[in-house]
Amino acid sequence: MEPLGAQVRIDAAGNLRGVYPALEPNVPCLVIGSHLDTVPNAGAYDGILGVVLGIALIEELRGRRLPFAIEVVGFSEEEGTRFGTPFIGSRALVGRLDLELLSVRDARGVSVRTAIEEFGLSPEKISQAELKKETLGYLEFHIEQGPVLEKLNLSLGAVEAIVGQSRLEFTFLGCANHAGTTPMNLRSDALAGASEWIGIVERVAQNIPGLVGTVGKIDAKPGAANVIAGEVRLTLDLRQSSDQIRIRAVEDLIRRAHEIAVRRGLSVRENVLLNQPAVAMDAFLVGEIEKAVIKTGCPPHRMVSGAGHDAMILAEKVPSAMIFLRTPGGISHDPAESVAPEDVEKAIDCGLHLLDQLASSPEFCKRTNRA
Ligand SMILES: [Zn+2]
Repeated sequence: MEPLGAQVRIDAAGNLRGVYPALEPNVPCLVIGSHLDTVPNAGAYDGILGVVLGIALIEELRGRRLPFAIEVVGFSEEEGTRFGTPFIGSRALVGRLDLELLSVRDARGVSVRTAIEEFGLSPEKISQAELKKETLGYLEFHIEQGPVLEKLNLSLGAVEAIVGQSRLEFTFLGCANHAGTTPMNLRSDALAGASEWIGIVERVAQNIPGLVGTVGKIDAKPGAANVIAGEVRLTLDLRQSSDQIRIRAVEDLIRRAHEIAVRRGLSVRENVLLNQPAVAMDAFLVGEIEKAVIKTGCPPHRMVSGAGHDAMILAEKVPSAMIFLRTPGGISHDPAESVAPEDVEKAIDCGLHLLDQLASSPEFCKRTNRA
């Protein structure tokens, strides 16, 4: 970034940040970024591609200055792999890297605070990582990490919302007993009840547009081939861009679990682990992204993101939007993750059109954040 004329620093949360100055000093800034960390056994594009694209856009400006500055941010710790808590870097920009988060520990007992200090940074300066009040917006390029754009044969998609998410744990309780001596009509089989409910989860999600529902983890006790399961724990993950639809589906599935339990002589209890609202992207920016996509010769396509991203955190403070790039095979978080060079070219082309549109938009340049 430095050869391109950007001033580069690492903030106290470990985010790498470079500011490409505007035509004039002391004018608001557009932030472009994504994350630098990734998961174990990862691919090469999740996160980092969005950072490189931000730098590529500045490179493509070839020294041209815009009415706003551009700050490229490479966020630290988005995945939550080390501390089990995601978005640590981006939370610093919205003022939410607080004492509670600083005291979270990794598997070796090292706290976020200590990790920051060991990296040579000072947690006391975290407030200096916060976004400036007059930040104009946040733009994030990211691989889709799913099959939708490939299925539609499209290079790019405009994200209009990041889905909300519910995560629950259900426990079905029955009666463990001998698999050979207990007649079918005298059983309280927790696993048979749970499996009936899993089928309902799939049907409910199939019947409500945009809803995705997953039971990804199940544990049956005592867990022997010749014993009727007396206790089954399983998880539910439900996502949708409408919080109302998601919450109604959760309530419906809880009710159905209890109906099954009553009918089968079981009991069931549920425990809500996560209830995260959906985050809308900024309508103005999404519209401008669509116009920019059309200028690249591609049809525009609006979509929702089924995964969380730094844009979700930044959207708390500034108008935010995302551009997805087609992900071959929909494969991500795996060494086979890839992108097509022509899609990256389209993304740069789209980004340059977008910067030009924003630079000539009095509406955009007058905007300030909602902080
Ligand atoms: Zn990512």
